[in-house]
Amino acid sequence: MQRITILGATGSIGVSTLDVLARHPEQYQVYALSAHSRVEELAAQCRQFRPQRAVVGTPEAAAELARLLDGLDIDVAHGEAALCEIASSPDTDTVMAAIVGAAGLAPALAAARAGKKILLANKEALVMSGQLFMDAVREHKATLLPIDSEHNAIFQSLPGDYARTPSESGVAKILLTASGGPFLHRTVETLERVTPAEACKHPNWSMGRKISVDSATMMNKGLEVIEAHWLFGAPAELIEVVIHPQSVIHSMVSYVDGSVLAQLGNPDMRTPIAHALAYPERIASGVAQLDLTQMSALQFYKPDFERFPCLALAFDALRAGGTAPALLNAANEIAVEAFLNERIGFRDIDRVVRRVMDENEHGAAHDIEAVMAQDARAREAASSIVSSISR
Ligand code: NAD
Ligand code: MG
Repeated sequence: MQRITILGATGSIGVSTLDVLARHPEQYQVYALSAHSRVEELAAQCRQFRPQRAVVGTPEAAAELARLLDGLDIDVAHGEAALCEIASSPDTDTVMAAIVGAAGLAPALAAARAGKKILLANKEALVMSGQLFMDAVREHKATLLPIDSEHNAIFQSLPGDYARTPSESGVAKILLTASGGPFLHRTVETLERVTPAEACKHPNWSMGRKISVDSATMMNKGLEVIEAHWLFGAPAELIEVVIHPQSVIHSMVSYVDGSVLAQLGNPDMRTPIAHALAYPERIASGVAQLDLTQMSALQFYKPDFERFPCLALAFDALRAGGTAPALLNAANEIAVEAFLNERIGFRDIDRVVRRVMDENEHGAAHDIEAVMAQDARAREAASSIVSSISR
């Protein structure tokens, strides 16, 4: 029996994870669930999965959850320390890290330091603290399995462990596929007037609002380039972004002998979730088998860095190193939130991120405190730029 903590249980990834778990009650048991503010949804999940513990964002939310769960033997708590506790408890084996944004870093790191099996969806955590996070995984013998569909595909297309570097394994290129999002074919001028609803309508995937906007700007792919760098020990030059609008091939690895290995499947996150849960075994996920005869032609293009400046900014941050990716990530989180709240336009997202990157120094990422200090400075800088341009 694998005992599981789900951080961010009410989100898109959290719900898909519970869907897979519900198909295999004899193999998996839910130890703890967390949500930030959607207390009623969390209460319904608690009634169905009967975890021992549930964690929410605030004391008010905790009081409300305790009231809704009255009569059930579930320990209710709130705040970051409680998240770190359910991620590192000796009573859990596996942690699904599916909180969105920097808020997920501390609990994901706590899971790494406790040597857990970590299923990592929360890419922002790795983008911010790459070296520190990977060091903690190695030092505490944690197991890190990627949930991001591209990284899960790359993991499946690599020789099987992280022990060797990509070049030792004969990797010539990691081909990170990208759908190009909803605005792949729009003229750049019309992007100024895009609404949050349009940006959140992804052609192939149904996801949370923040990652949906990131997909529309392609910052998501930029964050994924940095994520791939840390997960697989691949230098920026080894990682190539390929636009593939159908999202059938989830990424590829090209080897020096000319072989290209790919992982294909219907675009449904339950496939990488089931893969990581059961690894190295396989379990059913509820995803329909891919029917190749029903597929239209598969297309591949080079990305247009002018249409998608966020992609270039992310490569810049990766090359700059240190706390530069944390700067990029924090500025982006603030800008995306401001766009979703209709305070700034869609194209202002990349302008805010660029200005924060240009106007702020980055430093060495010695420790998590340095990363969090950079994160805080970048949020402040981005917020003041947002205020100065907001309509
Ligand atoms: P979502 O917005 O649907 O859910 C986010 C979850 O995090 C919710 O449960 C919410 O309660 C929790 N949360 C939000 N703010 C929090 C805070 N301050 N403190 C604690 N908890 C908080 O997001 P999602 O689409 O499920 O994405 C989650 C993560 O997975 C993101 O990092 C995203 O990039 C990554 N990811 C998602 C997908 C996808 O298909 N949705 C694919 C690949 C990677
Ligand atoms: Mg992805």
